[in-house]
Amino acid sequence: MYKAIFIDIDDTLLEYIPCCREAFDAAMRTLTPSLEEREEERLFAVFFDISGRLFSEAKHGKHTIAEVMELYPAEFIATIGYPESAVEPFKLAFRTAWGKTHALVDGAKEVLETLRAKGYRLFAASNSFGHLQRSRLEYAGILHYFEDTYISMDIGYDKPDIRFFQEALRRAALRPNEVLMVGDSMTTDILGAQAAGMDTVFFCRRGVPPENIKTITALRELTNEL
Ligand SMILES: [Mg+2]
Repeated sequence: MYKAIFIDIDDTLLEYIPCCREAFDAAMRTLTPSLEEREEERLFAVFFDISGRLFSEAKHGKHTIAEVMELYPAEFIATIGYPESAVEPFKLAFRTAWGKTHALVDGAKEVLETLRAKGYRLFAASNSFGHLQRSRLEYAGILHYFEDTYISMDIGYDKPDIRFFQEALRRAALRPNEVLMVGDSMTTDILGAQAAGMDTVFFCRRGVPPENIKTITALRELTNEL
């Protein structure tokens, strides 16, 4: 029934928190090489709260993803009392490290392999920097499964903006009813794609699976009905 599958990256194919932690550790080490592990852990919690809140606000249209990428390093550095001159080095070190982070979600590679073998066209659909997301998929050994990658900062709109999905469909020369969107965010992936006329599968990573929305709780379940 579907010709193609659009798949979110963070917390759908790649584990967000371990990747974030790894990039954070690398960035903190550039600022304070001798940072103690417990202190680093405490600072990571601060960082994760700040970035989480800003990304959540972006989901609801308060900032663009591009703005959040500038806001969270600045707010984090100010909050922990480091000098403002630390913002750029932290941001650059984080991004450099982020582009190499690639902890796979359980079953991700097998699912992509199966879907390709079944003839589906696969596209990544993510809110972030295009070059960094492609680099991460490459490090994870899964970039080659994708015919193309639709990443918000290349596309010009962030999920759940309907224009993100419309532009992705235009580039792939697909109609909404030919595509299934899979992702772990109810707001950006599911409601956004549905607004664009696409069917969806919600990957519920934590909490109680919702009713009335097609949901999986393990990535491998995706291939059962496709
Ligand atoms: Mg996600």
